[in-house]
Amino acid sequence: MILQPCGTDAAYARHIRRREPVDEACQEAHRHYGRVRYSIKFLAKSRLRGPRYQALEALIHRHRAEYAELYAKALREAADYTAEKGAA
Ligand SMILES: [Zn+2]
Repeated sequence: MILQPCGTDAAYARHIRRREPVDEACQEAHRHYGRVRYSIKFLAKSRLRGPRYQALEALIHRHRAEYAELYAKALREAADYTAEKGAA
């Protein structure tokens, strides 16, 4: 088995299991994955649940890292948009 490098949620879990100090990269990865998990939960509880959302949820689970990246990008863009609106 190949060990995941620092900066991943798997490495964060490994630090915890081994009672090692958690470095900044792993801490950030864990925070990031926490947000992803939260959004998956939110989606699961959504009143809009149906075949389409079940498929979407399954897709998110299958491509978690990619989803995390896209979600983070969308959050950044939303923050940029809000900042621009505030400045105008
Ligand atoms: Zn680490």
